[in-house]
Amino acid sequence: MARSIELNDDREEENPLQSQTTRHRCSACYKQYKKKEHLVKHMEVSYHSPHQPRCGVCHKCCKSFESLREHMAGPLAKAECAKIFSAQGCELCMNIFDTSAALNSHKELCCLRPAPSIDLVEIPSIELDSYEVEISSLGEGWHCSRLPEAVALDCEMVGGGSDGTLDLCARVCLIDENENVVFHTYVVPELSVTDYRYEITGIKEEHLRDAMPLKEVKEIIEKILYNGESLWRSRLVGGKAKLLVGHEIEHDLKCLRMEYPIHLFRDTAHYSPLMKTNLCSHSLKYLTKTYLGYEIQSGTHDPYEDCVATMRLYKRMRAQDHPTTEDSTPSKYSSRPSGFDIRSSCELQNMSPDALFEISRSNYACWCLDLKANVQSSNGEAWP
Ligand SMILES: [Zn+2]
Ligand SMILES: [Zn+2]
Ligand SMILES: [Zn+2]
Ligand SMILES: [Zn+2]
Repeated sequence: MARSIELNDDREEENPLQSQTTRHRCSACYKQYKKKEHLVKHMEVSYHSPHQPRCGVCHKCCKSFESLREHMAGPLAKAECAKIFSAQGCELCMNIFDTSAALNSHKELCCLRPAPSIDLVEIPSIELDSYEVEISSLGEGWHCSRLPEAVALDCEMVGGGSDGTLDLCARVCLIDENENVVFHTYVVPELSVTDYRYEITGIKEEHLRDAMPLKEVKEIIEKILYNGESLWRSRLVGGKAKLLVGHEIEHDLKCLRMEYPIHLFRDTAHYSPLMKTNLCSHSLKYLTKTYLGYEIQSGTHDPYEDCVATMRLYKRMRAQDHPTTEDSTPSKYSSRPSGFDIRSSCELQNMSPDALFEISRSNYACWCLDLKANVQSSNGEAWP
């Protein structure tokens, strides 16, 4: 529904007869309104910001990469943008390049090779105690000037309950930002397994025979994630607790009987720019193919492969170079009132479209801000 409205608006925008100067045009997405108050209303609910995916040709702001793709390469793509994109654009990151040589050398970096199978990567042997040592040797205050580090987590679930539909964690993998395995183990399920889901999990009874009890697994993962940070401090911005990268993180944590502060989640299933135009999640398989250029999950699921895919997606989103200021903390996460709340409607009506765009803030925390964490954490503001 929302989508068809947007497309109608796009067509309106392209109709030269209606493009009279009396119309009020949004500086971010170029939608046009007959009345200024309708533009103001649009700006209040659009959360336009420099963090939104943007067309490299006309600079239109889009809600997600999917809507940007529709704008540049979809069936109703804008002709001028589509023409330039088809000749000079990268289908994975949607960026435009000046020359075909630049495009070709970019594509070699942008399109990634699949991660090796977990059987081929080095897995450290971890004892619960070894984490104690590592953490206590870190000392006080070391983290203050550091950016938060991320780890990616993936669990494989087998089936429990009479019909096998209950998800039980049977295997878990954690990797660091450099794709090194931090922790991997098979897990003794909490209930008896009624369906190993072998076709998907590749897990058999024998794998779980000498596996680690869930309680111990949970303790190790918590030590890795909290990284020596106290529970209350990890609720603040700027501590040394790790960012948790994953796909549907809440589901994994539920199966691990674990909780973790939501502001530390970096979930590829619930990150607006990676979601469908209708705000539903894409599968990790789809995201990996579309944004990283390779296939995953073609046979049994490999938790290392899934961790690597989510970490690569996270790092790619984080590396985006968005113009930001100290004031660019999204309004939803800031105690400061939004620019629309503190102004009267009369004042808003008198502002130019550019000025309205300037006071508009994103309604999600763009991952590029993780590389500018010092700006955000300087006031130690608590996030919800
Ligand atoms: Zn707009
Ligand atoms: Zn950003
Ligand atoms: Zn465009
Ligand atoms: Zn690219």
